[in-house]
Formats: sequence, structure tokens, C-alpha cells
Amino acid sequence: MLRLDGTAASKAVKEQLKQQTLRLEQDGNRAPHLAAVLVGSNGASETYVAGKVKSCGEIGYDSTLVRFDETISEQELLDKIAELNNDDTIDGILVQLPLPKHISEAKVISAVSPLKDVDGFHPISVGRMVQGLETFIPATPYGIMLMLEHYQLETKGKHAVVIGRSNIVGRPMSILLSSNTTYGNCTVTICHSHTHNLKDLCLQGDIIIAALGRAEFVKADMVKPGAIVIDVGITRVMDETAAKGYRIKGDVDYADVSTVAGAISPVPGGVGPMTIAGLMKNTMEAYLRRK
Ligand code: NAD
Repeated sequence: MLRLDGTAASKAVKEQLKQQTLRLEQDGNRAPHLAAVLVGSNGASETYVAGKVKSCGEIGYDSTLVRFDETISEQELLDKIAELNNDDTIDGILVQLPLPKHISEAKVISAVSPLKDVDGFHPISVGRMVQGLETFIPATPYGIMLMLEHYQLETKGKHAVVIGRSNIVGRPMSILLSSNTTYGNCTVTICHSHTHNLKDLCLQGDIIIAALGRAEFVKADMVKPGAIVIDVGITRVMDETAAKGYRIKGDVDYADVSTVAGAISPVPGGVGPMTIAGLMKNTMEAYLRRK
């Protein structure tokens, strides 16, 4: 069984970006610059944004963290995004989701300039992805594609079962895996909360992407022997014996599924670090395109 180590694969991607940044600077250019916008003080969002800012530092990118109290109005946030759009020294903008309920995520996503949309959530980015045009691919699906590439896992002609149809993971993942690209060309089944016979469908999968947000949902009896299993889930499960009072669980029961799978990504240390690698690649892309 191959353990798909996202920490190692992400390190390799980041090292390559670091060398690229060094070369740009040696040629007299400035470094790529990412602006991260964080609203409120959600614990998980704080951790994600801190990881993204830290990675910028490791690679040599500039980063700006813009923080707002959760009482900020929608208009104030839109005004800040407009300011970042017009700031020539900033290449990429990410707005950490979720946002407080009084702010429309759809409006905020559409307010980010498609030229700086390193999260790949803007309708223009999504449309271009669907048509196979140059775009920004959402960071998590992009990270999974980079993981497949890192481990040179053959996908052509395979049956991929994607569990979850969200705009940020499941749906873009299904599009990428079915695209006519090196790590695409799969036959894709996309499952969601209304899917019947989920277990039967999963058993047909040569590749399973679990992105439903239910701790340890995928068990060994749902997995075809030798299948590639990619676990996207991140759920905090309360546990008084843990130092933080909770443990992070994926959507796959790792110990159980690793007895049948051919390859499996762990949580933590799998898709999480690859998501950051995807974001860092998008930031370099945004910089180069704007240049
Ligand atoms: P979401 O809640 O927006 O979507 C979940 C999807 O799963 C929905 O489409 C729903 O229909 C489907 N679903 C729910 N229960 C189901 C069931 N019993 N059977 C079949 N389908 C079911 O979630 P999301 O934003 O796509 O995130 C999914 C998980 O991935 C979460 O745990 C999230 O924290 C995690 N995540 C991780 C990363 C990362 O970097 N590793 C990034 C994004 C999301």
C-alpha cells in the first residue's frame, strides 16, 4: 500500500517555486505577492490562513494579511477587495471562507478580479476551467491533481468516484478528472447526499475522492482492492484525551481502508498541504500572467 504523503509532495512543489522566485529576484524582479483576507476569528480559518502566510514566507513570496472583525459590513469588505484589485503590487487575493452570514459569499467571490483569483472560485475562472482554458483551478482540486502527478498515478480510462459536489472540491474535481489531460481522462461518477447505493458505486471506483465532511465515513468494505483513495475531509472530533480537546479526522477510516487500498492519502498530512501547494502555484501563475 502506497501512502500518499502530501507533506513531502507539497515540499517538492514549494521548493521548485522557491527556486523560481530566487531566479526572478536575481533578474531584478520583485517577488510574487499574495493578499489574504480573514474576517472574524474562526479557529479553523485562522489555522488555514496562518499556514498559507507561512508558506509564502518559506517560498520567498511577499504576503499581506488583511484582518477584519466579524462585524464588518459587506460594503466595507467589497471596498477593500476593490482596493486590492487596483493595487499593482498584489498578484493574488484570497478571501478565507466561510464568511459571516450577513455577507454574501457569492458577491465577494465575484468581486475579486479574475486576474488575481488565486482561489479559482470566480465564475469566470470556473467557466474557463470547464472549457479547458487557461485559468486558476481551485486550490484543493489543484492540489489533488499535483499529488496524482507527484506520484505519477495513472488515471487514463479509470473509473473515479467523487463523493461530494461542492463548488470548492467535489464538482471541480469531477471536471478535472474527466478532462482530456495527463492526469484526467477518467470516467467519473459524482455522488452526493441524495445518491442511492453509494457503497456499490464506491466499490466500482479505481479512484475514490472522499470530500463529504463526515469523519471516517469510507470503510474498507466500500473500497475495491487496489483502489487509489484520496481523503479530503477535515472534521474536528471532540476528544478530551487530546491536547487541544479535539482530533482532526478525515472522511476515510485510514486504518481500515489501508488494508484494501493500493494507495491512500492520510489526514492530516495529505490533501491539506497539497491545497497550500496549489494556492502557491496559482500565485506564481497570477504573477507571471500579470507580468
Ligand atoms: P460541503 O459541506 O460544501 O459539501 C459536502 C458534500 O458532500 C455535499 O455535496 C453533500 O451532498 C455531500 N454529502 C454529504 N453527506 C453525504 C453522504 N452521506 N453521502 C454522499 N454525499 C454526501 O463540504 P466541502 O466544502 O466540499 O468540504 C468537504 C470536506 O473537505 C470537509 O470536511 C472540509 O473540511 C474538507 N476540506 C478540506 C480541504 C483541504 O484542504 N484538505 C479543503 C476544503 C474542504
